[in-house]
Amino acid sequence: MPDYGHPLLFGTFITPTSTTPTVPVELAMLSESLGFDLVTFQDHPYQPGFLDTWTLMVWVAARTSTIHVSANVLNLPLRPPAVVARAAASLDLLSGGRFELGLGAGAFWDAIEAMGGRRLTAGQGVDALSEAIDVIRGIWDADERAPLRVSGEYYSVNGAKRGPSAVHDIPIWLGALKPRMLRLIGRKADGWLPSLAYLKPGDFAAGNATIDGAATDAGRDPREIRRLVNIGPDVGVEELFDLAVEQGVGTVILASDDPVVLQRFAEETIPDLRERVFTERASRGTVGGRVRSAEVLARRTPGIDYDSVPASLAATAVEPGDSGYSRVRSTYMRGGSPGIVLRPMTTAEVAEAVGFARAHPDLPLSTRSGGHGFSGRSTNAGGIIIDVKKLNTIEVVDEVTRRVRIGPGARWTDVANALAPHGWALSSGDYGGVGVGGLATAGGVGYLVREHGLTIDHLVSAEIVLADGSIVTASGSENPDLFWAIRGAGANFGIVTSFEFEVDVVGDVGWAQLTFDASDTAGFLERWGAAIDAAPRDLSSFLIMGPRRGSDPRVATLMSVVDSDDSDAIIERLQPLAELAPLLQQSVQLVPYASIMANVQPGDHHGQGEPVGRSALIEHITPEFALAAERLLDSGEVYWFQIRSVGGAVSDVAADATAYAGRSANFSIVVLGGHRDRLNELWDGLHEHFSGLYTSFETDPRPERIQDAFPPATLSRLRELKTRYDPANLFRDNFNVALADA
Ligand SMILES: Cc1cc2nc3c(=O)[nH]c(=O)nc-3n(C[C@H](O)[C@H](O)[C@H](O)COP(=O)(O)OP(=O)(O)OC[C@H]3O[C@@H](n4cnc5c(N)ncnc54)[C@H](O)[C@@H]3O)c2cc1C
Repeated sequence: MPDYGHPLLFGTFITPTSTTPTVPVELAMLSESLGFDLVTFQDHPYQPGFLDTWTLMVWVAARTSTIHVSANVLNLPLRPPAVVARAAASLDLLSGGRFELGLGAGAFWDAIEAMGGRRLTAGQGVDALSEAIDVIRGIWDADERAPLRVSGEYYSVNGAKRGPSAVHDIPIWLGALKPRMLRLIGRKADGWLPSLAYLKPGDFAAGNATIDGAATDAGRDPREIRRLVNIGPDVGVEELFDLAVEQGVGTVILASDDPVVLQRFAEETIPDLRERVFTERASRGTVGGRVRSAEVLARRTPGIDYDSVPASLAATAVEPGDSGYSRVRSTYMRGGSPGIVLRPMTTAEVAEAVGFARAHPDLPLSTRSGGHGFSGRSTNAGGIIIDVKKLNTIEVVDEVTRRVRIGPGARWTDVANALAPHGWALSSGDYGGVGVGGLATAGGVGYLVREHGLTIDHLVSAEIVLADGSIVTASGSENPDLFWAIRGAGANFGIVTSFEFEVDVVGDVGWAQLTFDASDTAGFLERWGAAIDAAPRDLSSFLIMGPRRGSDPRVATLMSVVDSDDSDAIIERLQPLAELAPLLQQSVQLVPYASIMANVQPGDHHGQGEPVGRSALIEHITPEFALAAERLLDSGEVYWFQIRSVGGAVSDVAADATAYAGRSANFSIVVLGGHRDRLNELWDGLHEHFSGLYTSFETDPRPERIQDAFPPATLSRLRELKTRYDPANLFRDNFNVALADA
């Protein structure tokens, strides 16, 4: 009496006729609108009366948005498995995780041979399918760095590159009837997909028994394998009920091209069946839920109680071995190997995730929003990540006061795009891919900084999940001490789930990229620093330099924004910069601020290793510092050197008004190198020039950095609040104010 506990799903089985090629597409779209979970197509590549199924699936995926797509089933003998794997992962990526792989060993061998395929006996077909599954899974294993080598009798690959990594664990469902195929399902596949019309009474139970036996022998849990069935329109709800609760069928696929039949099934049979199965399962106490393979279970991290992941988070949690793991393990700057990534979708779920973290006090805990943290502390090794990327809404709260509510998972390019139609912008950073959560809890030094201040200076209130799981608001009037703390040291106090900002009116801006011969490095730095000190606030300027390349002169690039749409004013502001040194290249444009923030690289984060970067705030570019910076650049230990203008509106705010205390600095410096100890030695030697530290650009984990970032009065207040809001120091991953004094 198997009931494998799979949630009930429903699909359609549409004829891929080429006579009127739009018909199967329209039926797929109808299936989606009727609420079916899946649309499937038979695959007979030798049949001119049918559309090519891959092409049709791609077309259908592009025309739909929620329904999953599969072949029913894909003809393997005419499709090389490595290509099938890559095509499947690609379609899964393009469709946002909606592709499933129904696969068959092949039939109609005359037709296959006629198309150039190799004729196989039934037994050979099963062996070939088994090898193909190894190839497909090998290609999908994007976490594995070694090229794929499979040496089979029917399919071999010799050094194939892996990936891309699909959005979800694409299940492999096999169309099967005979014991050898059923045993293969038990050993290697994720689903059994027979057609009811071909089964005699007792076949389903016998098939299940064969699959379950083979699965158990292979060390698998039979519940890993979904049972699907193709049915005709004549199958009634009683028979379906029996299939679901007695044979463990989790997916029912209705074969029909008749819209009326599809609609009746969706409106009458599905709700009726769901209700009956739900009631029966409740009375039997059958527990459903996600079942992971033995292989994935073997990769679990000791010390994490995976079974206690809250139900609301379990379905989307990612563990080592899950196909989506490579997409979430690392950040922009750092490679990671977390034991579990929790991906809450609501504030309440964040609170549940925090509860799970509290139950694992000895494990590393990282909070992640956009994953661009410079120090890379939004990933870890063997610990828990709470990733709030899905909390990414942006909504205007009040047009008149320009209040905007933004989720921590939004990226700054999204924010800029959402505000642009209102003629507004929020001072943020220089890269649109950075997340709101990390930046808006630390500072926010961007291209509008001198005129509009730090991002945190626009914060009006925030919703925070504290270490004890409570959800509180911090603002000038509610929990004002917490509001003070999260503007500069937010990572220490909880997880911000929503920010409310007052944004500014910003029209088009002047956007200049000027490249200079900076052979006279120290002189150039000094002159640029003086020009910025003297410039009106509407100019913000970021300077980038690197090492000398061979005999070429050292080059400096200035990325500058003039917050004005008056071209004369823009030229006037830029003129003193253009005269700093011989100009090698220049580009000046009048552009919307949002177009500057559109500089985003698509894709997931695949950082590797540990980032090595140092940072400091500085009042002025003194001749002494300029010379020291030139020596540093000449050392060969720095491959990236950037100085950003700060000052202006940032300095209007009192140093004790927020936890970000470096208000007197006019510049923020960041360097990246390849060797931590050697860079530290050089950078530590410059300490006398510095007046503070902006944590967002620092990677050094030594406790001295806490004192650099927070002057004594700020630090002692932060520590007092830390004791109050997070006494067990749960949130300790990122510049932990509770660290002992050096
Ligand atoms: C390419 C690049 C460009 C950058 N440009 C700028 C810039 O122009 N100006 C600037 O100021 N900074 C800049 N930064 C630094 C950036 O602001 C910080 O690294 C910031 O923390 C990134 O935010 P995130 O949400 O993307 O990062 P994440 O890696 O997700 O988070 C970083 C840290 O912030 C904390 N955190 C994240 N989300 C939350 C939350 N919801 N609640 C509480 N704490 C949270 C966590 O401790 C986490 O470790 C840049 C970084 C990169 C990599």
